[in-house]
Amino acid sequence: MMSKKVQRGLVIAFVVILLAFAAWVAWTYLHGRNANVWAFIKEPMAHKEWTTPAGLQCPNAPFIIPSGGFIGYYYGDVFKLGKKHQGIDIFGGVEVAHMPVYAPYDGFVSREEGWKSSLILRVPQDPLQPDRQIWVYMTHMADRKGNGLIDKMFPPGAKDVPVTQGQVLGFQGDYSGNPKRPVGVHLHLSIVKDDGQGHYLNESVFSNTLDPSPYFGMDLNAKTAPDGPPRCLLSVQID
Ligand SMILES: [Zn+2]
Repeated sequence: MMSKKVQRGLVIAFVVILLAFAAWVAWTYLHGRNANVWAFIKEPMAHKEWTTPAGLQCPNAPFIIPSGGFIGYYYGDVFKLGKKHQGIDIFGGVEVAHMPVYAPYDGFVSREEGWKSSLILRVPQDPLQPDRQIWVYMTHMADRKGNGLIDKMFPPGAKDVPVTQGQVLGFQGDYSGNPKRPVGVHLHLSIVKDDGQGHYLNESVFSNTLDPSPYFGMDLNAKTAPDGPPRCLLSVQID
């Protein structure tokens, strides 16, 4: 049998862990970028100064910002316990199908047969590390029912369609996979590593993705980004 003292100690330890967890959950959901994203979705016109225009190219950055809106979530943000965000989310602050999505860089677009809302852009030569190929995955380009908002040039099964930086690929949507629980209208973008044999790695695994900050010339890393909407930096480090 445990002594009373040990039992009491265990109860206290349990309560402390529970409180710490509750505080973490509250902090994650109520502060920082969550609060701003909710405020923006509710009243985009009241927060126009938070937005970044589509097509903006920061000094020394190879990529252009692929869609207009508030860049609300960053690389490494945590939504679910133990799951880090693999990319960035740009919230258009407009209705579904109103905010165009442009190619951030020259490359070749593919769309898997089953992809309702997603495209992937192959960049044969990473502008920051020219000895490797990288991929840019973009998703949520469908409405809540799964009707695609992707340009006719990229039907399901499309393979390696050449595009140039700034070319229209589709429009932001609110597709989540569950029509009853759509997401706020946005574009998700992540930069995905190649497997070294010409294929992209699974983009849903954080370690298969790259910090987008140096590609856009903004600090878009949840670990280091300052408060407030992202702005162009003059120099960024590769994480
Ligand atoms: Zn996202």
